[in-house]
Amino acid sequence: MTSNQRTAGVVVQAAADIFDRADRLGPAKVVHVCEPATGLRGVLVIDNVARGPSIGGLRMAPDVSVDECMRLARAMTLKNSAAGLPHGGGKSVLWGDPRMPLDAKERVIRAFAHALRREEDYIFGPDMGTDEGCMAWIKDEIGRSVGLPAAMGGIPLDQLGATGWGLAHAADVAARHCGLRLEGARVVVQGFGAVGRHAARFLRQKGARLIAASDTAATIYDAAGLDVDRLMALKAGGGSVGDYPGGTRLDRDAAIGIECDIWIPAARPDVVREDNVARLNTKLVLQGANIPFSAGAEQALHDRRVLVVPDFIANAGGVICAAMEYHGATESQAFQAIEQKIRDNVDAVLTDAGRSGVPPRQAAMRLAAARVEEAMRYRRFGVM
Ligand code: NAD
Repeated sequence: MTSNQRTAGVVVQAAADIFDRADRLGPAKVVHVCEPATGLRGVLVIDNVARGPSIGGLRMAPDVSVDECMRLARAMTLKNSAAGLPHGGGKSVLWGDPRMPLDAKERVIRAFAHALRREEDYIFGPDMGTDEGCMAWIKDEIGRSVGLPAAMGGIPLDQLGATGWGLAHAADVAARHCGLRLEGARVVVQGFGAVGRHAARFLRQKGARLIAASDTAATIYDAAGLDVDRLMALKAGGGSVGDYPGGTRLDRDAAIGIECDIWIPAARPDVVREDNVARLNTKLVLQGANIPFSAGAEQALHDRRVLVVPDFIANAGGVICAAMEYHGATESQAFQAIEQKIRDNVDAVLTDAGRSGVPPRQAAMRLAAARVEEAMRYRRFGVM
């Protein structure tokens, strides 16, 4: 990391507290970008590139932080490693409202990509607040992004529901580990966006029943089951799940306390913490979102014998799809790879966790970190 080095509007900073999170795996580099003329404020974290150039999403939200970016970049290192991809982990964040006028959004995203054009160890992907169109601007600007529109040879992973497809397969395997039948299982989805809505759709195909879904505005609940297609149409038209005709409209965070069999966080980090974990009333958690639970909350659930399939195992569908696109695979090859890799990993992690009595995250960390460390041994000294 270079200290306060200024190159063409890019400030590369080494702030003392950044090192608090550093460990043997990374981060390799943290880049702060600030361009007052365009209102651009963003951060790139390249966590580890021992397995290859890092892939990770670009997140746009008004309340992102450097710390969130660092934790998400680490989640990508572990996710890409666990999925056996030849890629390291990275992440980037942009401060701003993702619903800003499209021309302003294009300007700021292009400016961010341009500022990072020489960071060849990072390949942009879509994340919250960005989509295939944003990836197309970046590809046009610097030639390096994944999750492109079909018109540019991409596999539109959010439209197709690559992560939701993987979550449904994770559910299938995990259900067997906790004695649950998917047929008739009650599902709650927190965050009915790209991940959440497709998870609900693919789980319905396996016989499960969506009883509640939430977004930033509300939670909608119906014990008899919600119509997933109707909810998807509402969201596609710019509405909220709270506009659903029927069921009971509750406040946003009510989704946390609804009794169910499978609870899927698919929104923001740290939504379940020590102070609200007692409200969660479920048998199985599939982490669709990245870092949705605090460490203490996961331990509390483990103590209560609630099975939690950790983020970097359960929600790897999107990045597997993106990496397959990058290496020239077709849509059906990508979906087959997601199915196989996620089923194998969920089974391996839950079997190991069951045998050794540790939380699934600990077993998953062992699997992923061992692969990263092995790759690091082949690198020149000091190169993560
Ligand atoms: P998205 O923006 O399409 O959807 C997010 C949804 O969550 C929106 O409906 C939003 O209204 C809702 N939301 C936001 N804050 C909320 C809150 N506090 N309570 C309830 N709902 C809330 O984003 P996405 O692509 O679906 O990503 C969701 C999460 O999944 C993120 O953590 C992302 O990092 C993670 N993830 C996404 C992918 C992918 O393929 N898109 C892959 C892996 C992980």
